[in-house]
Amino acid sequence: MSSIKEYFTSVGKGLKSLVQGMEVTGKELVTPKITEQYPENRATLDISDRFRAELTLKYDAEGHHKCIACGICQMNCPNGTIKLNTKMVELPDGKKKRALVDYMYDLGSCTFCMLCVTTCPQDALAFSNDFEQAVFTRDKLVKKLNYRPEPELPAAAPAPKPAAAPAPAAGEKPAAESKIDTKDNK
Ligand code: SF4
Ligand code: SF4
Repeated sequence: MSSIKEYFTSVGKGLKSLVQGMEVTGKELVTPKITEQYPENRATLDISDRFRAELTLKYDAEGHHKCIACGICQMNCPNGTIKLNTKMVELPDGKKKRALVDYMYDLGSCTFCMLCVTTCPQDALAFSNDFEQAVFTRDKLVKKLNYRPEPELPAAAPAPKPAAAPAPAAGEKPAAESKIDTKDNK
């Protein structure tokens, strides 16, 4: 008698389990699909703005960036991903200023920590969400971020000419000649 009871109990459990499984399957059947058909859907792909794909310099409408070549991002980068090449230029008022020559960024060694972005005093850096960064060789991952022409700096004022020596009085020899005469007389 007990074996018949056990038989029907196990059949009941099996049916209950089957119904639960079919319930899950039925739910998934009507749930909208989220599988991305990449790259066919490249044009409509929605990548989050917060996604960190590649470091970039921000450019304004005139095509100028705000980097002042201070080097803080380079110093704060934990693994030497940023390498700046700078030069000193002279301003019209005679003061010297550091200017950017090359802003080199190695995407292959970047850890996307954002330390460079958050510590830049000029808010000159940002991460783009352009995720298609696959290349065949690592050297192609090293990028020059200031790829647009640098703005022309105002030309330095020409150095003042030395004051002209006063013209010698009539009968007086020029200073240079006097010197030669002195030497010859020795
Ligand atoms: S990007 Fe910012 S922190 Fe880096 S050198 Fe330029 S101004 Fe300085
Ligand atoms: S995100 Fe981090 S690792 Fe990448 S360049 Fe900036 S500071 Fe360096």
